[in-house]
Amino acid sequence: MLDQCGRTIDYLRLSVTDLCNYRCQYCMPADGVVKRPHTEILTLEELVEISEACIACGVKKIRLTGGEPLVRRGIVDLCRQLRQLPGLEELCITTNGALLPQLAQPLRDAGVDRLNISMDTLRPDRFASITRLGSLETVQRGIEAAQKAGFDRLKFDAVLIGGFNDDEIGDFLELTRTHPWEIRFIELMAMGPCAAWDKSCFISADTVLERYSALQQIESQGVARRYRLPGAAGTIGLISPVSHEFCSQCSRIRVTADGKLKGCLHAREEISLRGLHGQALQDAICQGILQKPKKHHLAERPSDTPRNMNEIGG
Ligand code: SAM
Ligand code: SF4
Repeated sequence: MLDQCGRTIDYLRLSVTDLCNYRCQYCMPADGVVKRPHTEILTLEELVEISEACIACGVKKIRLTGGEPLVRRGIVDLCRQLRQLPGLEELCITTNGALLPQLAQPLRDAGVDRLNISMDTLRPDRFASITRLGSLETVQRGIEAAQKAGFDRLKFDAVLIGGFNDDEIGDFLELTRTHPWEIRFIELMAMGPCAAWDKSCFISADTVLERYSALQQIESQGVARRYRLPGAAGTIGLISPVSHEFCSQCSRIRVTADGKLKGCLHAREEISLRGLHGQALQDAICQGILQKPKKHHLAERPSDTPRNMNEIGG
């Protein structure tokens, strides 16, 4: 379906939980989130019903996110049900990878097409520090499990943070020489805990190009500008929501784990989908698509959303 700016909206980011087994410093408070009563979170049946209604409104691709989607009870069953929905072309998950050792194969068997794994650093001590609760070794086992299960086009997402991991860009690039992976560098967006961080924490994705002139541009994919080192097996993606905002190409809507439709990650406006069914549900989704904001204002000020990232889904 087209929105009022003429953008085709065909991509749903569906948050299945706001809980997480990590506490990444830029995303969540150190003591986690106040656990909402179960009744405030969409049931598996509601998640399927909302997905079905979004597909009726033109969605072709769904990405499950969170919080950490793999901590949601019933996630494999949910994936199986979503993958069977007629009209859905691609089902993807963005995960921190911690539960992939045990879940990669069941997710593949359930029909999940692709995985993005978030990994901000390749150094175990830094990984433990930025995630507060994570272990790089577990994620590495998760990556092996994902490959063994047949997820062969893995993408890795690293948020660039000045003074934390900007000295590792070269190490990430090296990984693509032998692995057919895409390593994607994402600009830090000022929201939640990191909205108050020093400006020096923000590193433009163009820094990667300035430092590594050997990178050769290849075709873009969605909002990612893409590059390759000569002869490398894998690719590099730059996601620059702040320095090169890509709102005019945005094809996404989002649904939070508590059932709010958001036309933009950074907008305050939300439409409650709970309790709606059939045509009324589709009408509310169409309204959300039509009201999708033209652009965000991250270049001028922090995000307008009062939510932390884990309460929306990145
Ligand atoms: N827990 C899963 C994970 O970490 O992949 C899925 C949810 S997480 C919110 C999705 C992505 O958002 C992660 O890659 C994370 O690094 C990214 N993210 C979180 N806060 C961010 C911020 N302020 N700016 C840029 N990316 C952010
Ligand atoms: Fe959890 Fe993902 Fe947020 Fe890290 S970025 S705290 S893994 S939701």
